[in-house]
Amino acid sequence: MSYVSRTLETVLQKNPGEAEFHQAVTEVLQSLEPVLAKHPEYEKAGILERLTEPDRAIRFRVTWVDDNGNVQVNRGYRVQFNAAIGPYKGGLRLHPSVNFGILKFLGFEQIFKNSLTGLPIGGGKGGSDFDPKGKSDREVMAFCQSFMTELYRYIGPDTDVPAGDIGVGAREIGYLFGQYKRIRNEFSGVLTGKGLTYGGSLARTQATGYGLLYFTNAMLQANGKSLAGKRVVISGAGNVAIYAAEKAIALGAKPVTMSDSTGWVYDPEGIDLNAIKEIKEVNRARLTEYRKYRPNAEYHEGRGVWTVPCDIALPCATQNELNLEDAKALVKNGCFAVAEGANMPSTLEAIACLQENGILFGPAKAANAGGVATSALEMSQNSMRYSWTFDEVDSKLKSIMENIFANTAAAAKEYSKPTDYVSGANIAGFLKIADAMLAQGA
Ligand code: GLU
Repeated sequence: MSYVSRTLETVLQKNPGEAEFHQAVTEVLQSLEPVLAKHPEYEKAGILERLTEPDRAIRFRVTWVDDNGNVQVNRGYRVQFNAAIGPYKGGLRLHPSVNFGILKFLGFEQIFKNSLTGLPIGGGKGGSDFDPKGKSDREVMAFCQSFMTELYRYIGPDTDVPAGDIGVGAREIGYLFGQYKRIRNEFSGVLTGKGLTYGGSLARTQATGYGLLYFTNAMLQANGKSLAGKRVVISGAGNVAIYAAEKAIALGAKPVTMSDSTGWVYDPEGIDLNAIKEIKEVNRARLTEYRKYRPNAEYHEGRGVWTVPCDIALPCATQNELNLEDAKALVKNGCFAVAEGANMPSTLEAIACLQENGILFGPAKAANAGGVATSALEMSQNSMRYSWTFDEVDSKLKSIMENIFANTAAAAKEYSKPTDYVSGANIAGFLKIADAMLAQGA
């Protein structure tokens, strides 16, 4: 039995019931087989055992008072996974599904993603089972202040720098930052995704979506294809999906779908982004509203965007939203490229099906790294007490994404098949971390 198989078996046994964590570890470890065969020193140093066990996993109670005067209790978490190449870095997710299993999968992915950016950031993730949906601003503020009253003791600009993820946008980061500053009496870059008036970076809001398209563009170009005139199916209607659609349009493609937790829209003429922004960013409403702006568009309850014929698919909603059946529908309808804007949106079976059928597949940890990369640029600007212009940040983001694609493709070519970007991203991300861990001792 190989080192990879033995470690994988132990990890699955030691972490029962954490299905998403199992899925993420299985994908990464299996793709590392050829690397570990070539580098026996990693086994001797226990690199895989160390990489699959978080440095620290913190859980705490978050108590807050709702608008009816009732006390509510939620669970808060921070998983500090690996700091071999920089301070822990990764978002906070506020969603009822949040538990250790989900955060360990996200934190584990973040290690490799952050390494791929080429910037000095380690991997972490946190959040709570608190659901910001349907809560008043005051309730969200009360929750965020209570959450930070616990979290502050574990983080810091050189220790661990959280940011947003699902359910955490500019409003939440503002309340969290305000509370950290109040407690520590310290104005520092302890969080990223901050507002522009208090240390945020220009282009951070757009970064994950724009970065996804820069990556997709590089992947298409390397394979003799382009975005111009292509039909793009997008899931999600949050920050990632909105700015992915915006950049897709700018690069000459036509996004025709978007979705939220209740349903999805199909607009054959191309999604009206101003309408989506008003519905989602201003009114915090549902996509059911979309037909008020575009009466000729279709609205459907439930899920279903992957059945719409397209050239390119961009899953930008959440984990495991694209399964084997969806992959088969994409293949049947002539889709030729999939790039992941969300974290682990495709199941292992879906990825296998897409790759076997020759569809170009850009895995999340490479394709959606633009968000965290720009967070790292926000950290740099905060350290310098200086701000770059939108174009300066955007052009750095573009070259980071093009480098990520180049490094991913080079590792794929060296260790697997030239278009196996899944293995390429895992391997390129891993090598830097493993070498830093070796250098720093056990
Ligand atoms: N939540 C984002 C991600 O999954 C961004 C994290 C960050 O900016 O730290 O990469």
